[in-house]
Amino acid sequence: MENTTTGRIIDGKAIAEQVLEEVKMAVDMRRRDGLSQPGLAVIRVGDDPASAVYVRNKRRRTEEVGMRSISHDLPTDTDEATLLALIDELNNNPTVHGILVQLPLPPQINAEEVIERIAPKKDVDGFHPYNVGRLVLKMPTLRSCTPFGCMRLLKETNEELIGKHAVIIGQSNIVGRPMALELLMARCTITVCHSKTYDLPGLIGQADIVVAGMGRPRFVQGGWIKSGAIVIDVGINRLDNGTLCGDVDFEAARQRASWITPVPGGVGPMTIAMLLTNTLEAARWQER
Ligand code: NAP
Repeated sequence: MENTTTGRIIDGKAIAEQVLEEVKMAVDMRRRDGLSQPGLAVIRVGDDPASAVYVRNKRRRTEEVGMRSISHDLPTDTDEATLLALIDELNNNPTVHGILVQLPLPPQINAEEVIERIAPKKDVDGFHPYNVGRLVLKMPTLRSCTPFGCMRLLKETNEELIGKHAVIIGQSNIVGRPMALELLMARCTITVCHSKTYDLPGLIGQADIVVAGMGRPRFVQGGWIKSGAIVIDVGINRLDNGTLCGDVDFEAARQRASWITPVPGGVGPMTIAMLLTNTLEAARWQER
């Protein structure tokens, strides 16, 4: 990690590589011990170009850590029954330990139905109500990858989290809500903000930890950040010039933060790393 007079950078790229190396070592050890090779099935429906890139990266990384990657690419006009039948088949296949359906799905398919059809023990995205409910109850099983990755980034700072006030911007099912549950489980005091929140700058100004997951380029101003706060920027926004930026005005926020994640190279790389961590955990769960 880089040390400067301003906020230190939490290097998500390096930490993700470290997590992937840990997963790879665990997979190698499993195979030496005669245990099964974890298998991850990734299903893509349609030809959304962004999804194609995400899926390609997930499959490549799966193979790099020594797991088996199973690919199912279905046409855009696939109906829900066909997708559910494929999930049933994968649920019953003992060589498949994790199932991921890349979102978004075409409009004829109900994403909630699909998520709930995946066996909780194979739900490596951590989106199934069973796994979310376990997180609510402080007994996590498979945890939503992006917030799980943010927790690992926070851990790498070696800062004490207990008792800190965390302000989370965004309340989506994949980012804000599970992030709030993770931080609550870590004994933070949490405030969850959304588009109807009054005085967002005032609330952010009280935060020891800010997690921005709103999808608004550089919305969070540097001057809103309390001096010494930790800033985790989940946002990924593509600007007109093709470059990526987060939800936080990075350069200005860095002048006040103690630690901060860049975009790209912060939270983003952690999501795949935690997906494969979950796939390993799913294989272990299925053996218990
Ligand atoms: P989402 O479902 O659109 O949710 C956005 C949330 O932000 C909503 O809760 C919304 O409030 C809130 N919000 C929007 N404008 C706001 C404002 N002006 N003030 C306060 N809150 C505001 O988005 P998402 O799927 O959670 O994703 C959020 C961002 O994270 C996106 O940039 C996405 O690309 C990124 N992301 C990154 C990763 C990764 O791997 N790094 C993974 C997932 C998502 P309401 O609920 O009131 O509408």
